[in-house]
Parts: sequence; structure tokens; C-alpha cells
Amino acid sequence: MTIIKAPRGTNDVLPSDSYKWRYVEAVADRTAARAGYKEIRFPTFEETELFTRGVGDTTDIVQKEMYTFEDKGGRSMTLRPEGTASAVRLSLENGLLAGALPLKLYYKINVFRYDKPQAGRYREFNQIGMELYGAKSPFSDAELISMAELFLKNLGIDGIILKINSIGCPKCRADYQNALREYFTQHISELCDTCKDRLQRNPMRILDCKSPQDIQLAKNAPKITDYLCEECREHYSAVKEALDSVGTAYEEDSGLVRGLDYYTKTVFEFIDVNTSLAVAAGGRYDGLIEELGGKPTPGIGFACGVERLFPLIPAFGSDISPDIYIASMGPVAAKAAFDTAVALRKNGVNVETDLMDRSVKAQMKYADKTCARFTCVIGDDELASGTADLRNMSDGTAKKIKISDISELTAILKNEVHICD
Ligand code: ATP
Ligand code: MG
Repeated sequence: MTIIKAPRGTNDVLPSDSYKWRYVEAVADRTAARAGYKEIRFPTFEETELFTRGVGDTTDIVQKEMYTFEDKGGRSMTLRPEGTASAVRLSLENGLLAGALPLKLYYKINVFRYDKPQAGRYREFNQIGMELYGAKSPFSDAELISMAELFLKNLGIDGIILKINSIGCPKCRADYQNALREYFTQHISELCDTCKDRLQRNPMRILDCKSPQDIQLAKNAPKITDYLCEECREHYSAVKEALDSVGTAYEEDSGLVRGLDYYTKTVFEFIDVNTSLAVAAGGRYDGLIEELGGKPTPGIGFACGVERLFPLIPAFGSDISPDIYIASMGPVAAKAAFDTAVALRKNGVNVETDLMDRSVKAQMKYADKTCARFTCVIGDDELASGTADLRNMSDGTAKKIKISDISELTAILKNEVHICD
């Protein structure tokens, strides 16, 4: 029989790597707490309309990338392709926007997009995101950007540049969309088929198209920053001033428009200079909450692509290798090893023992593979004397311990390996 493989573009997390995920998530938890962002969790699938209305039906995500299905009740459902629309839905449905503002939320989710699988691009991937509702001050843009920056810094990541732009509001965008329509109409035969359709409905989307020919055409297109209304221009200047004052370096990129329709004013991306991939991205979306049925309320957020962070993280803290492996020879010793292990675990020590009836040599090989910090072997002599050698696997030194004195053994191990309670 052949083995069934995981679907293309998905990833397994193996026992040797799961601690890396826990590390990234723990850093995210700590970072979010620095400015009062509280975690939310929401369903993996939502009604399709949430995304067609929220993300926008002329975007790549909605047009090409969603996993949409009809459930057995005949309703159209979609596996979440991002978190912002759901976070807004959750806030509206649960009355959170009627409470204290600003509302600061954060999430750690898996998302699904029918993307073209390659390095850093998967069909199921993970995002860590933060969202801020109710504040329109340029400092709220700067806070969000600084939270993304802090998260990357707390993970020890270097080699990232921050790109920012303003894509204005519906008022200033109307003139800009006309200018774009005029420009791209002159080149209509060169546009990809999807963008030919976007030309009338939403020409700004063409600027975010991934087709090489369209990227080339977009280079000479009119720039949004030449069309900003006074309010949007002032807001953009104030955001840059706030970033300058806290020493956050950025590059302005007037071609940055982002792939979701809900953005207004500030947009930004943190780019890995080596791969040119965005590791985190976001922006302001002052129209989204109203679009999804709420009162007009400003919003801003970002999401980080967790898989893209992994290759950039220099160290992941430590794995949960055993503090001690207790090897044994014969059934009586095996029982003593088991009793000791269970008692030590109750005291907060990570312990493994033999469960396979293996030779001491094979047990020690296993202890080595799992990177046990200490080992001890219990055999007939040890049972007779009630003592055993506790061996430090990193330097080979050993000290005598009393097998049955669990509290002394706990104290020695806690002292040696600095176990946290
Ligand atoms: P890209 O331009 O690379 O397709 P995007 O604009 O579609 O990215 P966003 O919707 O802004 O991405 O999602 C936020 C973050 O999620 C991205 O900055 C990136 O780090 C990550 N991301 C997006 N698509 C994928 C994917 N298919 N696989 C892995 N990570 C992804
Ligand atoms: Mg994309």
C-alpha cells in the first residue's frame, strides 16, 4: 500500500521542531502584552461573504486563492485566508467595539490560500497578527508598526527593511483610480486577463499583480502620493514624524499598495532583504468596520508570516530534552527507575526511562539522541547500595546520589540545569 502524503503546500511540524513554534508563540505573547494587545481565537472557516465583502472581490486572495466549499446545509463557507475580517466580525458580533476604545487584539492562526507553493509560500501557513480599533491618530499607526518591529527584534531577527506608503482615502483615491485607468488603458493589450477585468472595477489592484509584464507596466504608472488629499497627506507626514522620533528606519515606496481592498492611508511591509519576501505586512483600514456592518470606526493592523520568520531566527531557546535519563538493568531496577521517574516528574523534572526492554547500551544511545542532560544507570549493585552515579553528559563528570532520596535528587538537578518551576 502506498503512503498517503500531506497535501501540496502544507507542512508537518515534527517533534524535533515543535519547540521552535512554542518559542515564536511565546515571544509573540510577550510582545503583545507590552502594549496591551489581548489574544482572540475565532473559527477556521467563516461564511464566504465575510471575505468577499471584507477582503474585496477584486483581490487575488478572493479571486484566485480561497478554499471555498459548500457545506452539507448548502451554505458557502471559506477557510480563512487572513485574520482581519474575522477579528472585525468577532468584535462586532460580541459588542467589543461598544466597550473601551481603543480595542487592541492579537491572534495566532493558520490560514489557507491556494498560492503557488515554493520557498516561503504555502497553501496552509501561519500568521501572528495584531489589530487596533477606534484610534485614528498617526501615533496608532506608529504604535502598530513599532509592535511589528518589536516582535522581529525580540526574535533576534536582523536584515529586514520597513517599506511604507500611503494609499489615501476613498476621496483622494477616486482621482487616482481615474488616472490609473487612463494610463493602463493605453497598455491594455499587455495586461494579464485578470487585470483587464480589474481595469474598470479596481485599477489599483493591477499595481499588486504578480505577473512580470504587469509589474513592468506598473513601474511607470501614476503615483498615489501625487494624489493624496490634504488630510491624508498630513496624516502620512505625522506617521513618518512619529517613526523618526522613535528611531524606526523606513523606506518610502510609492508603489506599495498591498493585496487587500480594505486598506486606507498608511500601508507597510517588513521585507527580508535576502529573499525580498514580506515577513510582516499591514496597514490602516478605516472603512472595513463599517463595510462589515459596524459604525464607522478606524482600524489598523498587521500580520506576520510565521514560516517566513523561521529561517531568520538565530536561536530558538532550548528544546525540552530530558533533564535526566534513568537507565536500568533487569526488571527490579526497571521498576525502581520508573518509580523514580514518576516522582521526579511530579517535582517538575523532565525524565525519561526505558519502555522498550532494551540493553543499557541501547538505552544510553537513546539518551544521547534525545540530548538528555544527565543520565544514571540502575543495576544490581546500585539496588544493593541504594546509590548510583549521576553523570553530566556535557562534561562526563559524575557524582554519587541516593536513588530513593527524591527531594535531594530534585534539588541537585534543579540546581544543575536551572529548571523553572
Ligand atoms: P505576498 O505578496 O508575498 O503574496 P501577501 O501580500 O499576499 O504576501 P498578506 O496578505 O499581507 O500577504 O499576509 C501577511 C503575511 O503573511 C505576509 O507578509 C507573508 O509574510 C505571509 N504570507 C502571505 N502569503 C503566504 C504564503 N502563501 N505562505 C507563507 N506566508 C505567506
Ligand atoms: Mg499573496
